[in-house]
Amino acid sequence: MTMMTMTKNTTISCSRCRRKTKFKRSTGWNAAFIQGAVAGFICPTCQTPEENAEAEINEATLTYKIDAFGRTIATTKGASA
Ligand SMILES: [Zn+2]
Repeated sequence: MTMMTMTKNTTISCSRCRRKTKFKRSTGWNAAFIQGAVAGFICPTCQTPEENAEAEINEATLTYKIDAFGRTIATTKGASA
């Protein structure tokens, strides 16, 4: 299983249009997760209304952190795990 290694300055690209941005400027982008690890991104322009709503929900409920291996992990706010 391949995982992305990212920091705030890592350049990410849209999985659909290949547009690029810095991770720290990726507000509104939708991250695709596989087993809690970030697997890809979709920019706001490419998101369907349903995906856009999902991104807003994710921003409200998920916390991003960098684990000991430099991977970006999304966890639900308030979760102890
Ligand atoms: Zn795009």
